[in-house]
Amino acid sequence: MPLIMHSPKLQRLRTVDHSSSSRLRVYQVWKGRNKFYCGGRIVFGPDIKSIFMTLSLILIPVIMFWVFVAKGLIISYSREGIILVVTSALLTAYIIVLLFLTSGSDPGIIPRNSQPPDPDDDSSGVSTDWGSSLSSAHGVPLTKNVYINGIVVKVKYCQTCMLYRPPRCSHCSICNNCVERFDHHCPWVGQCVGKRNYRYFFMFVSSTTLLCLHVLFSCSLNIRVVMNKHHCTPWMAIQQSPIAGMLIGYTFVICWFVGGLTMFHLYLISTNQTTYENFRYQYDRKMNPYNVGIFRNCMEVFCSRKPRSRNDFRALVRNDSPVNSYTGVTSDLEMGRRRGFDADDFEDPRNRIGHLGRLERCRTQPRHDHWEDRRGNWR
Ligand SMILES: [Zn+2]
Ligand SMILES: [Zn+2]
Repeated sequence: MPLIMHSPKLQRLRTVDHSSSSRLRVYQVWKGRNKFYCGGRIVFGPDIKSIFMTLSLILIPVIMFWVFVAKGLIISYSREGIILVVTSALLTAYIIVLLFLTSGSDPGIIPRNSQPPDPDDDSSGVSTDWGSSLSSAHGVPLTKNVYINGIVVKVKYCQTCMLYRPPRCSHCSICNNCVERFDHHCPWVGQCVGKRNYRYFFMFVSSTTLLCLHVLFSCSLNIRVVMNKHHCTPWMAIQQSPIAGMLIGYTFVICWFVGGLTMFHLYLISTNQTTYENFRYQYDRKMNPYNVGIFRNCMEVFCSRKPRSRNDFRALVRNDSPVNSYTGVTSDLEMGRRRGFDADDFEDPRNRIGHLGRLERCRTQPRHDHWEDRRGNWR
């Protein structure tokens, strides 16, 4: 009932809001370099052609395997041969789905502000101080120190997005967006890898390694069949079945690449680092405030809920606002303009996985010790 009592004012606001809305949707005026499809429902990075390149690098060898090698395996091993071929088909389908989940979704883009944040506004309720006397073109300090449970984290102002980047966020120069828990921009999937698609990315890379090993094993088995059939050397068998030989060479090389990448990301996951942090900060175990032990680090990546996108790409754009201010996430944006970023962003990383159990307070860093670039230079 109180809502109905206030309805005249509310209706007036709604009328203003409605009249100020255009027919344009957010994805049609998007400032980043993303490519949108299906009316803004699917969002790719700027280099969508690279996805087709990656797809062909996976599909062409697999199709060659099905056409030239699979038949020999089924004839020689009957049931086991069929299992090998069906497994390769299922694995390929799974990898394609993961590729599109990684490439075709919001990696964790933070919506831009239409105005710079107010430096005097400390409405976040979080203890902060200014880490730099230097000001940006917008007149706000370039860095800001954020106190997270006694740990000081320096956040940098993004002049393009007009916001203070939350911890672990970085601006991708290729996509031209600020991305949460930015890992890297992957040229193979043509998209940023961030908070919302890292899990899919890792599963894509590790599953591709499995497919490579699978095809490598199956083709080696095929060569063995030819050797037994003709009582010949491996080299002669490869001449008899050149496609199998070629696939062995191809998968052997690719295995080193994707297998190495899988191992590297397993290390990053177990120590709770992003690729960006690993290359930029190279912090040891004690300096990384996000490292809460292998088990919890892995749970955070594999078992945590996928965060909701901060963007409603299909929402209507408001005419009275110059950039990326739209009806769908207005309140979020307004809050963002005032605070730079949500209170969640200040949350201690151990609290973010609080559902995993009570975690002990990390004592690796005394208060006022700065967790920052060893070169003292945040980007
Ligand atoms: Zn930015
Ligand atoms: Zn990017």
